[in-house]
Amino acid sequence: MSGYLSKMEDQGFEELIMIHDPSCGLKAAIAIHSTVRGPALGGTRMWSYPSEAEAIDDLMHLARGMSYKSAAAELPLGGGKGLIIGDPNRDKCKELFCSYARAVNNLNGRFYTGKDMGVDEEDLTCMHNETDYVIGGETIGSPSPFTAYGVWKGIKACAEEVYGSPGLEGKVIAVQGVGSVGEALCRHLAEEGASLIVSDLDRQRVKEIQEQLGAKAVDPDDIYSQECDIFSPCAAGGVVNEETLPRLKCKIIAGAANNIYKSKEMGKAIEEQRILYAPDYVINAGGLIFVEMRRRGITDKEEIKTEVARIDGRLKELFRRVREERLLPGEIADIMAEERMQLR
Ligand code: NAD
Repeated sequence: MSGYLSKMEDQGFEELIMIHDPSCGLKAAIAIHSTVRGPALGGTRMWSYPSEAEAIDDLMHLARGMSYKSAAAELPLGGGKGLIIGDPNRDKCKELFCSYARAVNNLNGRFYTGKDMGVDEEDLTCMHNETDYVIGGETIGSPSPFTAYGVWKGIKACAEEVYGSPGLEGKVIAVQGVGSVGEALCRHLAEEGASLIVSDLDRQRVKEIQEQLGAKAVDPDDIYSQECDIFSPCAAGGVVNEETLPRLKCKIIAGAANNIYKSKEMGKAIEEQRILYAPDYVINAGGLIFVEMRRRGITDKEEIKTEVARIDGRLKELFRRVREERLLPGEIADIMAEERMQLR
């Protein structure tokens, strides 16, 4: 654990909590990056990492990312993340989640958590018995339709920046991944008259979208080389890289996936290829906005959609600053989030 206090100082962390419960063997950690804007919010994952150092580094990286995402969405929230160390397929038991939930409860509302990798509805139900600081489960519903709605609005803001009009009629949009967000996004796009090209590892999902929305289906690897206006990654991260970028023929990259590209150099390379990039955590914040509004007891879908639609204005402001300050969209996104966290 050496050097973690310095890392916390460098990255502006408030708390790093290590939890051990000998009665059930729980080993867990919670990272609270910032509570400047409000309580830290972030999912809890159950995962087995090759080493403790990698686990804590990843936890801190994810917690910090949540602060930026909340600030970018102008929510009264900070960022945090929880981790239960273990293999979700082998080590899960009720006692583990109850014990972890008691640790969350001891933070007295400085950290709200929900589902992440390796944690399911049943685990959340266990945690609910011990603490009110758990959000999610059937009681609040799925955030995915709201993420998709925000991505659609964000794509329109990108179209306005590049083509001078937010209209998507006749635009060719390649959507990678038609899971819960990608599918809902395709429906918004098709309704507006866009031409869709879709890919997914799950052929059945592709077939449904093809039949219902008249989309053209391509093999997963072929999505990168399609002639299109907009490439919308809605599957995994890291999909824009040295190998795929030269194949892209689009003018805009805007999708729901987190960490669409991984290195700063790639952000520059995207710009050099004259492609406009919508920063992932700005455009995909619709689900987080939904979760926060539900946390505050707001249930009216139209009210939530109105709030999610503000992603359009945030992207327009971001692109204006990109032009004026001659920085990359990803850099301006970080600056705007840091301003909102009073780090600048
Ligand atoms: P999902 O699991 O429902 O759907 C992902 C789909 O992508 C699946 O159908 C999967 O088969 C497909 N896929 C995976 N790898 C692929 C590849 N290489 N090529 C083509 N298809 C591939 O997930 P989701 O909830 O729709 O989320 C999609 C992305 O958006 C993820 O990166 C997620 O982290 C991000 N995101 C989701 C939300 C949300 O509210 N669900 C919010 C913010 C960000």
